[in-house]
Amino acid sequence: MTATVEPLLRIDTNGAGTVRLWGRFVRVRNGGAVSEPDLATGSVRTVPIGDAQPNAEGDYVFEPGRGGGRMDKVVLADRDFRWRYIQASHFGEVNTYFHLDRIAAYVDDLLHQLGAPPLPLVTAVVNAHHAATEEDGIRDGLRSGNRWLPFQGGHYRLPSHFYSLWEHKPISPDGEIHLGPGRQLLKHGVLVEAAGGSYRHNASHNAGILYHEYGHHINRHTADFRANALRPPHRQVNLKTAMDEGTCDYWAATMLGTPHIWAWHRRHDHQEVHPRSLTSSKTMADYDQSPVADAHANGTIWAAALWDLRTLLGAAEPDGVRQTDLLVLKALLLLGKLVDPTRESTVANIRRARESYTAGLNALLQADERLNAGRHQKMILASFSKRGIQPAPSV
Ligand SMILES: [Zn+2]
Repeated sequence: MTATVEPLLRIDTNGAGTVRLWGRFVRVRNGGAVSEPDLATGSVRTVPIGDAQPNAEGDYVFEPGRGGGRMDKVVLADRDFRWRYIQASHFGEVNTYFHLDRIAAYVDDLLHQLGAPPLPLVTAVVNAHHAATEEDGIRDGLRSGNRWLPFQGGHYRLPSHFYSLWEHKPISPDGEIHLGPGRQLLKHGVLVEAAGGSYRHNASHNAGILYHEYGHHINRHTADFRANALRPPHRQVNLKTAMDEGTCDYWAATMLGTPHIWAWHRRHDHQEVHPRSLTSSKTMADYDQSPVADAHANGTIWAAALWDLRTLLGAAEPDGVRQTDLLVLKALLLLGKLVDPTRESTVANIRRARESYTAGLNALLQADERLNAGRHQKMILASFSKRGIQPAPSV
């Protein structure tokens, strides 16, 4: 991995895009703030970082700044430290626009091929829940004992009456991607290798996280695993099913062209491979049935089966990778129409009908029937039976 200067495609040319990172598929904003010296009072004041601005040539060029520092630990950081934090946040905005636009344009092309409607625009917030500044004893961040910590990682949010991390600002009913500035200082992964030293766990600098979170946007507006379309727009549910998480890991892997979706932040070598790598050998025997099970860990079984299918189909046909992505997307669209014919069409019943890997596999087989007259049935069944996932008897 290396840093390069790239064109930002599909940016709005009429007004907005010339002064900020707004485009056809993605709108990026900076949710960050820093404390600066207040000369009038001799103390500090909170200053929003504001959205990335182009330079005189109209380009968005910023320093990665090794992901930025920890602003939550000090009342007032040094000038150089603040500069690096701000640069890292703007670099993150540009990186976020680039990768989200890239996957959005690809999926839009696939949807067009399938004759399906386009996805709504997504809003992405960089330096979300940063915990860097305080007002009346409150910070936008993670409460840990009597401390506030910055959010690490990304999450896809819909307006709800319940959040695992409090949302201080209204959220778009179409969905938002929030990217935390992070806490941990990473010692491994391709960002560390490219920078030649330790790197902050800044979600907006990690393409794997960006593609995964956009995956939730795809899934919300296709399979709609939680039947959110049937709920009032401001009372949707943010909890994710295992198939949702696993499919997002697949989207990340297919965009990165590697099963090692955590390669930007974690080591992947002969000694250690991240448990969410799609090379995982997990099967349904490893599925955690507990109600508090980690949906990401269970999702790896689904994601790894999809990756196996992509590998088989990719080897068998020249456009096998694109064909696999089309099958996955078509299956998600079919799941989004699935209801249980034996039950009343309530939110709970629809959610249950779309939840199991069996339902997902049936949707993939059905997608193959519709798109390829069932030509890839054997490959699909082989990839999933290896993981202990079987179709429903009726199929
Ligand atoms: Zn959030």
